[in-house]
Amino acid sequence: MAQVRRRRPWIAAILGFIFTGFGHVYLRRWLRGAGWIVAAMASSFFVPQTAVDAATTAVMTAFTNPQAVQSMTVPVEQLLPIYAVMAASIIDAYIIAKMNNQIVEEIEQGVRRCPACAKKIDDSVNFCQWCGTDLDDELSL
Ligand SMILES: [Zn+2]
Repeated sequence: MAQVRRRRPWIAAILGFIFTGFGHVYLRRWLRGAGWIVAAMASSFFVPQTAVDAATTAVMTAFTNPQAVQSMTVPVEQLLPIYAVMAASIIDAYIIAKMNNQIVEEIEQGVRRCPACAKKIDDSVNFCQWCGTDLDDELSL
């Protein structure tokens, strides 16, 4: 939490749209991004193998022979579980970016937050009332 910087929510959303988890990479939330990639892969277990194969073939063909894709049929409705996880990951990335920017704004306004747990802390105390982290170092600045 030491280097909180402003992140654009819509960039996080677009990156997450291009590839599940990329929005979280932009937000430096590596583990959460990896979790979404795992979730997207896990969601394919709820989709018939034929639909996964058809979608994979269509994506591969789109790169090599874009014209051929138009004549291919992909059972879109069967892919719904995968789309649902992808959509949720995009929303998650957007919300995290918003929350991140809110914290940046509070820091700029002088609101103190615990460096360990990131919760708001009272001006008059030299420890975090939420996790007990000693804040003497911060006070001596
Ligand atoms: Zn704390």
